[in-house]
Amino acid sequence: MCGIVGYIGNKDAREIILNGLEKLEYRGYDSAGITLRNNTADTFNVYKDKGRIAHLKSIVDYSYDSGLGIGHTRWATHGIPNYANSHPHYSKDSRFFIVHNGVIENYKELIATYLQGSVFASDTDTEVIAHLIERFSAKMSVSEAIRKTMSLLEGSYALAIIDRDNPHKMYAAKNKSPLLIGLSDHGIIVASDVMACVGYAKEYIPLDDKSFVEVDGASYKIKDIIGKPMEHDVKEIDIDASNIEKGEYAHFMLKEINEQPGVIRNILQRYFKDGKVTLNGPIKEALQETDRIYIIAAGTSMNAGFVGKQIFEKMANIPTEVHIASEFAYNMPLLTKNPLFIFISQSGETADLRAVLVNIKAKGYRSLTITNVKTSTLAREADHFVEIMAGPEIAVASTKAYTAQIAILGILAYGLSDGHINLYKELSRVAISMENIIDKREYIESLVKDYLTKRNCFYIGRGIDYYTCLEASLKLKEISYIQTEGFAAGELKHGTIALIEDNTPVIAIISQRDISKNTRSNLYEVKSRGAHTLVISTKSVHDQDDQIIVDDVHELFSPMLTVIPSQLIAYYAALARGNDIDKPRNLAKSVTVE
Ligand code: GLU
Repeated sequence: MCGIVGYIGNKDAREIILNGLEKLEYRGYDSAGITLRNNTADTFNVYKDKGRIAHLKSIVDYSYDSGLGIGHTRWATHGIPNYANSHPHYSKDSRFFIVHNGVIENYKELIATYLQGSVFASDTDTEVIAHLIERFSAKMSVSEAIRKTMSLLEGSYALAIIDRDNPHKMYAAKNKSPLLIGLSDHGIIVASDVMACVGYAKEYIPLDDKSFVEVDGASYKIKDIIGKPMEHDVKEIDIDASNIEKGEYAHFMLKEINEQPGVIRNILQRYFKDGKVTLNGPIKEALQETDRIYIIAAGTSMNAGFVGKQIFEKMANIPTEVHIASEFAYNMPLLTKNPLFIFISQSGETADLRAVLVNIKAKGYRSLTITNVKTSTLAREADHFVEIMAGPEIAVASTKAYTAQIAILGILAYGLSDGHINLYKELSRVAISMENIIDKREYIESLVKDYLTKRNCFYIGRGIDYYTCLEASLKLKEISYIQTEGFAAGELKHGTIALIEDNTPVIAIISQRDISKNTRSNLYEVKSRGAHTLVISTKSVHDQDDQIIVDDVHELFSPMLTVIPSQLIAYYAALARGNDIDKPRNLAKSVTVE
């Protein structure tokens, strides 16, 4: 969600920042902006507007050299997307330029206490920060003024700041929202995501909460809020630039759907040796010692978590609950004596999850993060961390991260299972069967064409198929904007069946032998009320009229297969509607505000 890229150095700041922002486009935004120093005239120019980076690029002036700048992509939280609310914002006399990711919860109180009578150019919470820094800098150094401002801010912020009167410096500050500094021999980058540094820096430093950075030419100092130097790790950037390009595919989403078999094979290679799981001791211990797992997640990761619940309970005999992170954070249920918290997040930056993590850590509970980004906040801050090895996922609608998360949940449970499922073999079969489905994508496209023409749709299933339905319906909603519900097939008749009318699309997922008959009965119920049905089933339970039949694997892992036709259905439905598939409206890839 939203992005920051700042640069100071000998190279072209304009190019590095605009390129960096483009690499963060996948995270979702509604406006973009940049402040650049004109090296020769020693002036600062601001270019910003609502809309895409392509638009920003068309309004930037390329006629001067620039070695310092800060750029931003905004995902509006306070104030509509428009010119005035776009970042950078600046102080009254245009001395301080700032870009901000996050939300300042007490900005109204700050205005009342410190900035009465000030005139604001925007409706944002952000602008307050620029005014406060300017006000405090009248009586103290700029560093002190920023740190004093930090001490007053409640909420989340990643900030990059330029001071017009110190044109060889750049400042940064962070709390809750992600921020890092990229290091290279030509200059220093400040960015909200390491992806922005790819191609420009080889190393980076992830910043901790409440850290303040002063970059002076080629050197930097990282301090805490009272000005004490802070320790930090320098890490290598090992992302391959080709992984974040579309290659031969029309969309990242299609590329990522296609990458799933390869991801599962990567996972097998990484986590198995001679058919045995190679998880480290403390993780196994944490699982052995807990009396209940609490999976905390949101969106697609939560849907993977539901499958995880079945896996933990059926393979490892550990009672498991799944919770919506944003609910759990402020409405905690009664916990068991020895809970283990598992956080599932594609980006590892989800603010709703972080709020829970901070809370349960303070209470002394154990935590484990499952994420795709090993450098992320949730990976760093939990006691344990397992990487899902999916490679960068750029399309906002998650596909390969979902199936990879389920594979990892299986691996975690496997260490405690009695071995009746040969997980290595199952996952290897999953990878091959995924390929078989993906090979039939043109057929799935032809099915979708005249099928999803209404404004609503239902996915129905029972047991583990119901969980797949939740993910399948989320995917279709996210990118096609068709109002879709994932429903427990048996529950439909208790009310929602009233919505079925002539030609309402109802897609059933059927993979479990013991309840396939029940789901089929529910299918007939909707059919007799006019529904236009489509069935995704597995070979062993299929009927000859079923439209999409996938291979059999162990039922617990069938969601990894039955979900793939639903990803393709969503993709082709969105394509037919001419939607922006990789960047659907209103959505962000990594949701860094609560
Ligand atoms: N809260 C700020 C705004 O609405 C920043 C949003 C963002 O993180 O992009 O402008």
